[in-house]
Amino acid sequence: MNVLILGSGGREHALARACARSPAIGKLMVAPGNPGCAQVAETHPVDLGDHGQILALCRRHAIDLVVVGPEAPLVAGLADDLARQGVACFGPSAAAARLEGSKGFAKDFCREFGVPTADYRRFRSGVEAKAYLRERGAPIVVKADGLAAGKGVVVAETVEEAEKAVDALLPAGSTPGAEVVIEEVLEGEEVSFFALCDGSVAAPFASAQDHKRVGEGDTGPNTGGMGAYSPASIMTPEMTERVMREIVTPTVEGMARRGTPFRGVLFVGLMIGRDGPKVIEFNVRFGDPETEAILERLSDDLPPWLAACAAGTLPQGSPAFRPEAALTVVMAARGYPGEPMKGSRILGLDEAGRVPGVVVLHAGTRQAGEAIVADGGRVLAVTAIGRTVGEAQERAYRAIQRIEWPEGFCRKDIGWRAVARETE
Ligand code: ATP
Repeated sequence: MNVLILGSGGREHALARACARSPAIGKLMVAPGNPGCAQVAETHPVDLGDHGQILALCRRHAIDLVVVGPEAPLVAGLADDLARQGVACFGPSAAAARLEGSKGFAKDFCREFGVPTADYRRFRSGVEAKAYLRERGAPIVVKADGLAAGKGVVVAETVEEAEKAVDALLPAGSTPGAEVVIEEVLEGEEVSFFALCDGSVAAPFASAQDHKRVGEGDTGPNTGGMGAYSPASIMTPEMTERVMREIVTPTVEGMARRGTPFRGVLFVGLMIGRDGPKVIEFNVRFGDPETEAILERLSDDLPPWLAACAAGTLPQGSPAFRPEAALTVVMAARGYPGEPMKGSRILGLDEAGRVPGVVVLHAGTRQAGEAIVADGGRVLAVTAIGRTVGEAQERAYRAIQRIEWPEGFCRKDIGWRAVARETE
């Protein structure tokens, strides 16, 4: 099977590693990829917004399966364009990608198919949105309807803060069609849950916990994710079964009934509270950095599972994982999540990768001659496996000590909740 992975982050490096070790793989390509992907696959520069370029690449290299990393190409209809040319795609059609592309759509969908989520209302008018805020009171959540790379959500502690968020998202005379969702605050513990879907059935894949805030102790601004570990201890077999029954299965069935079957990975952002699991958000692709940790634990052969999702032939059961824990620490360039410093040189990557159980995944890096330099916000995803989250954490930070990169930083406490639980 010739496989093309699209994207250039740590997630895509992890996907490329998992595919590269598969006996099912003929040619493996990543576009545009990064220097880490280039260690295990052929990389090609490509503009992910240009579907014609991607189709040409598929034809030139007789690609059997395209695995789409990020959400934007899916929301823009890449899977549909590939299908029209007879190329199988792991990732949903534009119509099914609306589960991530429009929060208003996702909320209405949950309401229609009885999927538990926070109570909400949708608004196009700032005046009406603010009247509703005042009626409901704080704390309350304000969300932009469309894709906002993690920056379109405000969990407001006061009505004033919520009103400011509405003003920012729906300024007077704003773009026609701009919309906000206002919803109740959910209490509990957040988990990322992943299920493989083939359009009519779903298989549980894995769980993880992300660390979205930039600072230790979950403080400071939100980021794309500063680290993760897998599995999430709260996702017991019973909770997994419940999430599949109450959330994933009705979602896959509902999408099929609407005539927009969901194929790919359904990533459910969950809040596990006293009255059970509720959907915070749906994503229609693998999470980053969750995937880096999850795929280090995968013992099964990944490409046949991805191909089965695309073909609508998902077998019974679910992929096998090692019993160990895995943990990923993201190293970011100074300035992130604001404007990151680019071009600084990174040393010690090989030494870091020699710590037992550790792999240094590349995200925003670039090859400059012999050197690896920073070329983005999130630059490395240092991933370790261990018998416990604590052991994986110790190994990941031991590896990070060997990385010489004064212009980079990381959180020092990834996995803190799980490690505290392990030592209780
Ligand atoms: P990302 O792209 O980073 O996944 P997003 O912009 O799609 O984020 P959400 O995942 O919906 O937005 O929300 C971002 C974060 O805000 C969540 O991870 C959660 O911590 C918090 N959040 C969102 N909705 C709620 C809610 N109803 N109750 C409590 N917290 C919430």
